[in-house]
Amino acid sequence: MITLEDSYKHRGMRKKLVKLIENKGITNHQVLKAIGKIPRHFFFDNAFVEHAYQDKAFPIGEGQTISQPYTVAFQTEMLNIKPENKVLEIGTGSGYQACVLLELGVELHTIEYQKVLYERTRNFLPKMGYNANFYHGDGSKGIPDQAPFDNIIVTAGAPLVPKSLVNQLKAGGVLIIPVGDNDKQKMYRITKLAENKIKKEAFDFFSFVPLLGKEGWGK
Ligand code: SAM
Repeated sequence: MITLEDSYKHRGMRKKLVKLIENKGITNHQVLKAIGKIPRHFFFDNAFVEHAYQDKAFPIGEGQTISQPYTVAFQTEMLNIKPENKVLEIGTGSGYQACVLLELGVELHTIEYQKVLYERTRNFLPKMGYNANFYHGDGSKGIPDQAPFDNIIVTAGAPLVPKSLVNQLKAGGVLIIPVGDNDKQKMYRITKLAENKIKKEAFDFFSFVPLLGKEGWGK
């Protein structure tokens, strides 16, 4: 069972988590404010609430995870988001990352491969007051009908940068994606400088569940 109660104790634990993430190098105030505002324990069953404010990933069912708060903050900071940007998130999962993006004032399109998670999160987020456009399907191909996007965030580990995602970026747009094997992935930021010109920057290693689908690891 999940209880939607945000107590003084929860808020205190959240404050400590924000400090920890800040100490790890996150500087974007809006990102830190979003982490400080969103009750991450709402995404956990009551039995596991103690885990909600630790800086770690946690199982959410269907073999998937809610990402580590630092990872959520890092990917969001790297996107250089402006309010009202049109953003695509691949891997809706629990919806926590989606809430962080929505706190930055974006128009969010988020796609999830696992039907159970898609349905759960599409029903749950509006109850928290967060509204996004939810899709069920293979996000490795992007969402051509909704393209182009200012920002694309991939929250699962890919074998390569999917061409479709680069194609669906606006000129000036930014894609953040972990690329590597099933064990660990290097975080890449791709900036589309002009229609046929991209800049590729590499950051640290992270560990994500695999990106499935046609331009991921397959089924
Ligand atoms: N953003 C999520 C959150 O805040 O909870 C992180 C979830 S988890 C690390 C990655 C998610 O990507 C999983 O829910 C998984 O089912 C999903 N996924 C994997 N491959 C996908 C694909 N091709 N299209 C859409 N979602 C995918």
